[in-house]
Amino acid sequence: MNPHRTGEMTTDVLVLGGGPAALCIAAALSQEGLRVDLLSAQDPRTPWPNTYGIWCQEVERLGLAHLLGHRWERSVSHFGAGGNDDGLREHGLAYGLLDRSRLQQHWLTALDDAGQRCLIGKALGVEHNDTLLQVHCSGDQQLSARLVVDATGHQPALISQRRTSAVAGQAAYGIVGRFQRPPIEPGTFVFMDFRCDHLGAEQRQQPPTFLYAMDLGEGRFFVEETSLALAPPVPYAQLRQRLLQRLAHRRAEPIAIEHEEFCLFPMNPPLPALPQAVAGFGGAAGMVHPASGYMVGAMLRRAPAMAKAIAGGINAGDLDSAALTRLAWQALWPSEERLKREFYRFGLAKLMGFDEARLRHHFASFFALPEPLWFGFLTNTLSLTELGGAMVRLFALAPWDVRAGLLLPAREAPHHG
Ligand SMILES: Cc1cc2nc3c(=O)[nH]c(=O)nc-3n(C[C@H](O)[C@H](O)[C@H](O)COP(=O)(O)OP(=O)(O)OC[C@H]3O[C@@H](n4cnc5c(N)ncnc54)[C@H](O)[C@@H]3O)c2cc1C
Repeated sequence: MNPHRTGEMTTDVLVLGGGPAALCIAAALSQEGLRVDLLSAQDPRTPWPNTYGIWCQEVERLGLAHLLGHRWERSVSHFGAGGNDDGLREHGLAYGLLDRSRLQQHWLTALDDAGQRCLIGKALGVEHNDTLLQVHCSGDQQLSARLVVDATGHQPALISQRRTSAVAGQAAYGIVGRFQRPPIEPGTFVFMDFRCDHLGAEQRQQPPTFLYAMDLGEGRFFVEETSLALAPPVPYAQLRQRLLQRLAHRRAEPIAIEHEEFCLFPMNPPLPALPQAVAGFGGAAGMVHPASGYMVGAMLRRAPAMAKAIAGGINAGDLDSAALTRLAWQALWPSEERLKREFYRFGLAKLMGFDEARLRHHFASFFALPEPLWFGFLTNTLSLTELGGAMVRLFALAPWDVRAGLLLPAREAPHHG
């Protein structure tokens, strides 16, 4: 795909952005036979900065396992306090890391093969122009389309977001490198290590954090200290200090740091209020799972249905841009998906009030659920009824301190620092 400069042009759908969301929905729309333009602030072949982890089953079900760069058959968590109580849980499910450049190329090739255009420029504003939408771009350019999909990430360019006081952020500080000793068991993926025997009494009163880690092979590991979600988010300095303390406790101090990851994204923003001038996808459209933080699997699963609905609307011929935009939002967020999202947001608000011990107890019960239920919860692949059933079972399994925490109004749950 040869990036062009922006110019005067009209197309079926203009997709804004150059990250996974933009490429994913643009490729799905192209698959439906629509004319698609991609407008990205930077060359969409620019390497992406984030590492994307995913449960292997998610990509296997979609026939996309070849997009994985790493795969761990053994995935574990620790929900004990540490010392003699490691609370080891074997998840029994393979976990993977997507090969970022392969994933990017997968979508770019689909666009290129269909002869779609890729434009470089920044979307600055949008207005209705008769039945079309006109986007103003950097460099004083205009682009016209029947529908515009804003996929410019968590601070969208053209979607207006609701004002809310506190959106919780998942913050993490990670290191890719070599260590004095393996920081985790070689060959494994650690989803959540909540052991906290390396922390002082005062630190254990602060917001709880856990280790997310993987063995990258040949003596390299990725270790990341992560906070589930908090508003305001846990500062990087605190996460870094806790990570180094955890590693020192295991005599696994870093000896060579290749890369540091500073991760922060919103977990539970409300969905954009409708109507909007443009449609949305990805971070711009609230697609991050409010309880698990995952989004890539959801985009891969949900893009085809949204693209099909949009193609149906465009091919019907008589819908104007406002009607197409409504149709696109409805296809992405039907009422069942909205309800499930509110349910996850509610759950997260509860967990944010849990202290360290209660959070460990909660996750120990959560992962005692049958695998299809915890997997379906984390990946949002359960129906609303199944999700309700899973929550009833979780409540029945949970110890009393967790039940009490779930029943207390969120604002009255214990608060941290
Ligand atoms: C460090 C980190 C790690 C994460 N790890 C995972 C994970 O393991 N698994 C998972 O499922 N999710 C993960 N997430 C959450 C989520 O999947 C990512 O945030 C994801 O990158 C969001 O994709 P996006 O395409 O919506 O936005 P972004 O990746 O932020 O891409 C936005 C794109 O829009 C472009 N853009 C911005 N403004 C304009 C404009 N005005 N005009 C045109 N283009 C514009 C930008 O240049 C960029 O290309 C992670 C997030 C972070 C920050």
